[in-house]
Amino acid sequence: DLPDSAATALVDAERGTAVFDPEAQEREAFEGRIAAAAAERAAIEPYRLKPAVTATGERVSVMINVADPDELDALDPAICDGVGLTRTEFLFHAGHGLPDEETQYRAYARIAAWAKGRPVTIRTLDAGGDKPIEGLTIAETNPFLGLRGIRLCLARPDVFTVQLRALARAAVAGNIKVMLPMVAIPDEIARTADLLDTVIRTLIGEGIACARPALGIMVEVPAAALRAGDFPADFYSIGSNDLTQYTLAASRDSAEVGNLNDAANPAVLDLVARTVAAGTARGVEVSLCGDAAADPAILPKLLDAGLRSGSVAPIAIARVKAAIARYGG
Ligand code: PEP
Ligand code: MG
Repeated sequence: DLPDSAATALVDAERGTAVFDPEAQEREAFEGRIAAAAAERAAIEPYRLKPAVTATGERVSVMINVADPDELDALDPAICDGVGLTRTEFLFHAGHGLPDEETQYRAYARIAAWAKGRPVTIRTLDAGGDKPIEGLTIAETNPFLGLRGIRLCLARPDVFTVQLRALARAAVAGNIKVMLPMVAIPDEIARTADLLDTVIRTLIGEGIACARPALGIMVEVPAAALRAGDFPADFYSIGSNDLTQYTLAASRDSAEVGNLNDAANPAVLDLVARTVAAGTARGVEVSLCGDAAADPAILPKLLDAGLRSGSVAPIAIARVKAAIARYGG
């Protein structure tokens, strides 16, 4: 409860708590935690620019998630092995209607230029569910199970084609990989591959420089995790946020079922291990770009499941690499 007035507030952003006009004892404990957090930050800092390696010398790829390319200006690409997830929804929230091809091309080419040859994974529009987009997503009684992600893109080839054209053009400028969200059945990537072929043929016909980017899928629907090997994907990236909510039937945005929405649940970890095994059998990369990769309590379990690649928010890079360095020791 917020008091009417207070002289001092102790705000703990990590725990999501605030204490108003604290007792001396509370203040002392809080200051102790601030000092401990500063010491931890200093201890993990040396890991930031180094490649991630486990205590037993195994290399782990650590990439970053990008929600807005503006944040890249302050980042050195040497902190990461590439971009594991670009959430392209930022282009569709700019408030000027749907972004045109040139706007999208410039945004993707800018990220590729920043990455200096490192892989840049760009996810096609993941509208719907927790990411409604005005003028595009439709009203549904259960939007998380409705027309979202790749389903919406395939239902709107007019919108999807513009994005695929921009991506095929940006693939000339760097190591662009295209990733499809919410894939549930192999037909969805097969249809997208056909659309991409058509887009590339058209661009070539128009004399516009383009290249065919690698085409992979997010594994965030249990059906895809159970049968990952059936999907003709160039790579897999596990979306643990959605995979957890769909596996446990517990919404990712409801505190009421927060105890069930646990990426460390053995059922979720089994699906991660299955996906890693399917990728290994097919000789393609398996990464994980959900929040679980940045959770020090869950990360060792993901590594136990065989995962050797992850993508996290830039702020978590040093902490994740430090946790990897402790693994297996
Ligand atoms: C996920 O579902 O884990 C994921 C990375 O995608 P988003 O959080 O954007 O749905
Ligand atoms: Mg998702």
